[in-house]
Amino acid sequence: MTALTCRDFIDLLSAHVAAELPAERLATFEAHLAQCPACVDYLQTYKDTVTLAKGAFRPDDSGQAAVADALVQAIITARRKR
Ligand SMILES: [Zn+2]
Repeated sequence: MTALTCRDFIDLLSAHVAAELPAERLATFEAHLAQCPACVDYLQTYKDTVTLAKGAFRPDDSGQAAVADALVQAIITARRKR
């Protein structure tokens, strides 16, 4: 099993939240979480952002859901640049 870097972790994050991560990758993902408090915080922030974005829009309005996804992506991009 190859250890993840924080960058790899962030790349896998959206797949993880969407429950699309293969079991093999999930194990490395969780191993990284176990040893990296910064990524635990990052994951929590990500989930909070998704929750807030979804809560701000009605789920039956696909156009606005796309806006929410774009918002999440913009936040992720901004955080990566730090
Ligand atoms: Zn990390």
